[in-house]
Amino acid sequence: ILQIQHLQKKFGNNFVLKDISFDVTQGEILTIIGPSGGGKSTMLRCLNLLEEPYKGIINFHDENILDPSFDRNLYRSKVGMVFQQFNLFNNKNVLQNCMVGQELVLGRSKEEAKRIAIENLKKVGMEPYIEAKPKQLSGGQQQRVAIARAISMNPEILLFDEPTSALDPEMVGEVLNTMNDLAKTGLTMIIVTHEMAFARNISDHVIFMSDGIITEQGQPNEIFNHPQEEKTKKFLRNFK
Ligand code: ATP
Ligand code: MG
Repeated sequence: ILQIQHLQKKFGNNFVLKDISFDVTQGEILTIIGPSGGGKSTMLRCLNLLEEPYKGIINFHDENILDPSFDRNLYRSKVGMVFQQFNLFNNKNVLQNCMVGQELVLGRSKEEAKRIAIENLKKVGMEPYIEAKPKQLSGGQQQRVAIARAISMNPEILLFDEPTSALDPEMVGEVLNTMNDLAKTGLTMIIVTHEMAFARNISDHVIFMSDGIITEQGQPNEIFNHPQEEKTKKFLRNFK
């Protein structure tokens, strides 16, 4: 579904992504791990075009999304993102948060948007809170609403940037469980996380990134139980 080839990104003269290449297949759960500042968030932001790459190719269904002729708006509606800080609209209630994108971007009617929003809020266990404003909810609840909002857009790929890092420890589990449920639906997911046990369980493939390059990648068993590179070993030791 995605092919990333020789992706580079720089801020000024600082190359944050040096030469990144990998493929993502339909339905794959890919996790990206690595030390702070390694370029993980920048990579996700390039994938959904929140950042403009400097060089390289990002093929989506064999079409380079960086070509000037590519329809970026259509692409953006097919790639969802869940952020560390939830990014909900604070002046809208839970239901409205899950409806507005469907109406504005996908052109769905109010009735249809509402039906789909409620369906997805049920899936994340947030249906009882449809009238609540984000500020009235716990962090874990807000993040589950953000996930319901994202899947209400019927994305083909859902990106997660450290979705549990801003949560109190007792709320991490409910969000990870929601993500585990989602993974079983066949959705393609790319997840940046520091939750190593979760990554080991959920992933089909793991990428270890540091200093703007992929230093090691493989199946979870290979990366977590038999890392080859010194940088990976050192990083994983900090989580033991
Ligand atoms: P963390 O685990 O802490 O979230 P990360 O792997 O997500 O780290 P990035 O946020 O992608 O790392 O940052 C990689 C590098 O790019 C950092 O050195 C950061 O300072 C730099 N950087 C990121 N965004 C910008 C920006 N908008 N302007 C300038 N430099 C930036
Ligand atoms: Mg980051």
